[in-house]
Amino acid sequence: MKALVLEEIGKPMVVKNDWPEPKCPADGAIVRVEGSGICRSDWHLWQGDWGWIGFKPRLPAILGHEFAGVIEEVGKDVKNLKPGARVVVPLAQGCGVCDDCRTGFSNHCMRGGGMTGYAQYGVLSHADFNYAPLPEEIDFVEASSMGCRYVTAFHGLLDQGHVKADESVVIYGCGGVGLSAVQIASALGARVIAVDLDDRKLELAKQVGANDVINGKKTDPVKAVRDLTNGGADVSVDALGIEATCRNAVASLRKRGRHIQIGLTTQKEKGEVALPIDQIVFREIQFVGSLAIQSFRYPALLSMIQRGLLAPRKLITETIPLEKAFGVLEQMSKFENVGISVINQF
Ligand SMILES: [Zn+2]
Ligand SMILES: [Zn+2]
Repeated sequence: MKALVLEEIGKPMVVKNDWPEPKCPADGAIVRVEGSGICRSDWHLWQGDWGWIGFKPRLPAILGHEFAGVIEEVGKDVKNLKPGARVVVPLAQGCGVCDDCRTGFSNHCMRGGGMTGYAQYGVLSHADFNYAPLPEEIDFVEASSMGCRYVTAFHGLLDQGHVKADESVVIYGCGGVGLSAVQIASALGARVIAVDLDDRKLELAKQVGANDVINGKKTDPVKAVRDLTNGGADVSVDALGIEATCRNAVASLRKRGRHIQIGLTTQKEKGEVALPIDQIVFREIQFVGSLAIQSFRYPALLSMIQRGLLAPRKLITETIPLEKAFGVLEQMSKFENVGISVINQF
C-alpha cells in the first residue's frame, strides 16, 4: 500500500508505494482511510519531542492519528462492527479492560494502539470498544478533524473545563485545536476571545465564532483580555503549549478562573513551564490538563454536528494528496499553515 513513512527523527518523511498492509488483529479492524487530518502532534513526533515523558514512535513509523474511513476487514473476535461501516478512528484507543478503561477514562489507556492514518489502510484496535460510527451526512473530510484536534478541544472545554454559556473563554493559539476550541466554546454560548500572532488565523477565528481577537504581536494580550472582560476571563485555554501562551493564559484569568492546558510543550520547554504559584493560590486559580477523549464521547459530539451546532468543516482550509502531507508538517515549523489540512487522496 501507499504510506508516508517516518524513517528517522527530524529527517524528511518519504512516500512508499509498496509498504506492507497492516495485519488485522483478532479483536481489531482494518480501515480503508478516506480522510486523514494533519495535526501538530505529528510535527512534535517528527521533531523528536516528548521523549521527556517517555513517548517515542518506534521507527520506521506511519504517523497520522486523526482519520476516518470505511471498515475493510474485521478480526474474528469482533462482534459489533462489519465491513462497509463508516467510522471515525479515535486518537485514544482503549484496551477496554484496564483500570482506566473500566472506570471510564480510556483516553488514559496506553495499551490501545492507533496512529496509522498517513496510509491507504489503518488499524482500529479493540474495535468493539473503540469504534465510533460516522453518520452518512458527515463526510470523511469533515470527520478527519475529529480524530484528535476537534475532540481534544471538545473534551477540554466540556468535560475538563465545564464551560458555561455565561462565561468568557480566552483561547491562546489559533492552530487546529485552538480554532476548534473557538468554535466549540462559541457553540456553548460562551463569550470567546482568540489570541494569536497571525492575523490570517485570527480572521478565521472570527469566522468560526470568536467575539474578539487579539494579535499578541501588536498588543499585550493579558492586558487586552483583562480590559475586555472587566478583570479577567473565567476560563483560559493554552492550545499551543509554549511558555508564553501557557503563562499568558494563566495570567489572563479572573479570580477563581480555570485554566485548561491542551497544548504539549516543545524542545524549548521540555515539559516544564514556570508558573506564578502564589498568584494561583491567592486567586484560587485551577490549572487543569486535558488529553484526547474517550471513544464513547463521539456520539455526543457527532449529534451536535448533526443538529448544526458545530461545524468542523469550517476549519478545513485544504484537501491534499498524501504526497503533499509532509510539506504541511514542514510548514508547521514556521507556523505558516492556517486552519486544518486533510489528506483525501491516497
Ligand atoms: Zn485500557
Ligand atoms: Zn493530534
